[in-house]
Amino acid sequence: MKIAILSQSSKLYSTSRLKEAAENRGHEARVINFLRCYMNITSHQPFIIYQGERLENFDAIIPRIGASATFYGNAVVRQFEVMGVFTPNPSQAISRSRDKLRSLQILAQKGIGLPVTGFAHATEDIDGLLETVGGAPVVIKLLEGTQGIGVVLAETHQAAKSVIEAFRGLDANILVQEFIKEANGMDIRCFVIGDKVVASMKRQGAEGDFRSNLHRGGNAAKIKLTPEERSTAVRAAKAMGLKVAGVDLLRSNHGPVVMEINSSPGLEGIEKTSGIDVAGKIIEYLEKNAAPSKNGTY
Ligand code: ADP
Ligand code: MG
Repeated sequence: MKIAILSQSSKLYSTSRLKEAAENRGHEARVINFLRCYMNITSHQPFIIYQGERLENFDAIIPRIGASATFYGNAVVRQFEVMGVFTPNPSQAISRSRDKLRSLQILAQKGIGLPVTGFAHATEDIDGLLETVGGAPVVIKLLEGTQGIGVVLAETHQAAKSVIEAFRGLDANILVQEFIKEANGMDIRCFVIGDKVVASMKRQGAEGDFRSNLHRGGNAAKIKLTPEERSTAVRAAKAMGLKVAGVDLLRSNHGPVVMEINSSPGLEGIEKTSGIDVAGKIIEYLEKNAAPSKNGTY
């Protein structure tokens, strides 16, 4: 197969592992910086030009679109789709997953376990909003935050009110969530490919931090998932339309709850912690689903 890895840098761990895994399995793999692609969208034969060269004859792409480049990155993914090239994560699913509120609404509609979550526009409605999620303590999140930045624990009603007012004063969109205290600063990353969890890890926040993000000083370890956790992760990825996804769960006393779903999940932490060749499994998925004879699903 001829595979394009859409990524801003071939030096990133995940990108270089995907290229290596594809080549090890006998495929041709190229890293394409999607921000340097340009295209003609009105042509009867849609195409993409990359650094002066027309991109042709690819069997599959692997989108690795960073949160800051979602808009343009997704336009490039869409152009590949129009050209009939297979992608495990369609552009629509990627843009859905980038919006925390929209993601939660889709998951709720499918009956997937979630922390009780509220959302409001006007600050006059804060008291009512806090009441709908069961009152303080609550977690307040910026809708467009990543890596734990913009996630705040408010222990009291008054603290919650001040934080919400401050965020809204800056015109930031937020959601307010029940605080899953019993998770004890631990969350679970399930790496889903197709309809299976192929690897998982638990992440524990740094001492005193309720956020388990590795970027915030958390550390990762192996974990054994329950069947319910596995099926929750698989159902969540499916609801979003993602065939490669990092599904983050919390262990709550009302079962596993989905916190977020990442459409370009990093490979470094999960491969090093689990010892599993996740990059190889992504390529294997493409072999089964994007071989030329199976193309034309778009
Ligand atoms: P980000 O996109 O910035 O990673 P998350 O929603 O994943 O934001 O939140 C960051 C971390 O905060 C999570 O990994 C988890 O450890 C903790 N956390 C988030 N929401 C809750 C919650 N409702 N209850 C308890 N802990 C939470
Ligand atoms: Mg997170």
